[in-house]
Amino acid sequence: MALLQIAEPGQSQAPHQHKLAVGIDLGTTHSLVATMQSGLPRVLADAEGSVLLPSVVRYLADGSVSVGETARQAAAGDALNTLVSVKRFMGRGAEAAQQLGEQSPWQIITHDNGVPYFRTVAGDKSPVEASAEILKALRQRAEDTLGGELTGAVITVPAYFDETQRQATKDAATLAGLNVLRLLNEPTAAAVAYGLDHAAEGVHAIYDLGGGTFDISILRLHQGVFEVLATGGNSALGGDDFDHAIAEWVMREAGISSPDAEAQRRLLQTARKVKEALSSRESVTLNLAAGTGGAPADWKGTLTREHFESLIAELVDDSLRACRRALRDAGMKPADLAEVVLVGGSTRVPLVRRRVAEFFGRPALDHLDPDQVVAIGAAVQANVLVGNKGEGDLLLLDVIPLSLGLETYGGLAEKIVPRNTTIPVARAQEFTTFKDGQTAMSLHVVQGERELVADCRSLARFELTGIPPMVAGAARIRVLFQVDADGLLSVSAEETISGVRASIVVKPSWGLQDDDILRLLRESQAAAAADMKARALQEARAEAERLWLAIEAALAVDAGLLADEESARLRAQIDSLKAAAGGHDAAEITTASEALNHASEAFAARRMDAGIRQALTGKTLTQLEDH
Ligand code: ADP
Ligand code: MG
Repeated sequence: MALLQIAEPGQSQAPHQHKLAVGIDLGTTHSLVATMQSGLPRVLADAEGSVLLPSVVRYLADGSVSVGETARQAAAGDALNTLVSVKRFMGRGAEAAQQLGEQSPWQIITHDNGVPYFRTVAGDKSPVEASAEILKALRQRAEDTLGGELTGAVITVPAYFDETQRQATKDAATLAGLNVLRLLNEPTAAAVAYGLDHAAEGVHAIYDLGGGTFDISILRLHQGVFEVLATGGNSALGGDDFDHAIAEWVMREAGISSPDAEAQRRLLQTARKVKEALSSRESVTLNLAAGTGGAPADWKGTLTREHFESLIAELVDDSLRACRRALRDAGMKPADLAEVVLVGGSTRVPLVRRRVAEFFGRPALDHLDPDQVVAIGAAVQANVLVGNKGEGDLLLLDVIPLSLGLETYGGLAEKIVPRNTTIPVARAQEFTTFKDGQTAMSLHVVQGERELVADCRSLARFELTGIPPMVAGAARIRVLFQVDADGLLSVSAEETISGVRASIVVKPSWGLQDDDILRLLRESQAAAAADMKARALQEARAEAERLWLAIEAALAVDAGLLADEESARLRAQIDSLKAAAGGHDAAEITTASEALNHASEAFAARRMDAGIRQALTGKTLTQLEDH
């Protein structure tokens, strides 16, 4: 993997001109904003002195919006109009949103544009609009504190976010009036915050367990630059799940059977308090008055840290399984690591720290506030990007989580940018036409590790039209994939002989249906052997069809060059190739193709001679085989 140091030439500024740039951690549970002042990171607080802005948005009947702590406090009483954890919905399609929404109190409506909206008293609101409200609040906070307009912001996203989810985040920022300097993966930002870029060379693991997502990243510092070796995790695992585990325990113990939405919310709020207290205490005693959280009678119970740990052990193990896979992807063992960094509020849970230290065989770095690490790293990056720092300050590179490619003939996925390639990246590949006289080509951009397009995720389709008619295989179509530093993909196609072009910026209309990238990877591993077989069969069939179409086309024009008996033999061979291609034996198809190819050699030679004679007598050569 290439090591790049991105010096952004247009970005250097006059040294005395300090620009206001911020880093924003747009979290599922909390969001924060940070900036650099006199070379030191500063996390900005609101008027009450708190730095964590709860990622909660409440819409009111008069059209006004409340964001943060006031919204969170109102949540229990106004569940329908108070949106929490909207990050989980960002860039997700209708079906996925409905599924996610099943355990939520909100009414989710899908509009004609395919985007899910939350129905509120103030009208239908999309996840992007709700996120924009959070970003607006942070922008306001920054401008009030720093006393000026912001030049730009670096916004962090989970490493798991796919194209759509990143685009949705960018859209939210634009709606909030922010100039997005760059989207940055959260774990990558954490590495910068810890100054691992100034540490000795080595491989580091970033373990980020937040409220709703878990990310693990393996980074290598080499010659002063970070290289991202692998990323992994689980976008549906976090502290919220610990809350649910406690809430379920309370329900069992207190005999609560089916709490309504509000009771559920109360239970979860209580569970969260208990969980957070258990990070510093050995046990917590709860009192539920009859009716609270749906309790049938007064109830009092004690949860010990030990019992809590047994309730969440399986969830913590889940995160370690993802760590093991990421290490394997990176080709590393725990012993190869120099540092392990803890990020995210849930890494305050003692069991998490213990298990992580056990797994990696060393205590983790934790001297920065795990809630603030990501915002601080983003602020450091933002500062470099607006040109407040001298040249030579490196910018980190991220990787793409799943391979990007194109559908080729026979429903095969041709990988163009393999997964874990560092971004930004540009990769080109040449394709050609399949049929004589083909003037258009349909390009289907896919993402995934599987061999067959049907098993990959479809990102976009576009057409390259206006290709001058040529013999099959003569056109030279150069397809260029570019992934920018934010992970956004654009694809262009150019027929290089004629210069016709077409391109598309990939803004697919929905996110991964089931956003478990690891599941897709596991499936691809499990299916590798079957895929290879399917691919061989498709390739053999495509090759066979290409061959018979070419010979049939030649026969239609030049059958006169052959004796009747010769052309009958050739046609018989075409028929047996077609029969073979109808079967499922790749080897048999290939053998039949070779036989037909062999049998047509004399015919091809005669056509070539005839073509040359024709050219020499001044006639135009209409069909010249491209060899
Ligand atoms: P996100 O990035 O998903 O917004 P954060 O990194 O802000 O998440 O982490 C929020 C999670 O951390 C919540 O589930 C919260 O309950 C949990 N958390 C915060 N403080 C503690 C604590 N002292 N003990 C255990 N969990 C905590
Ligand atoms: Mg976070």
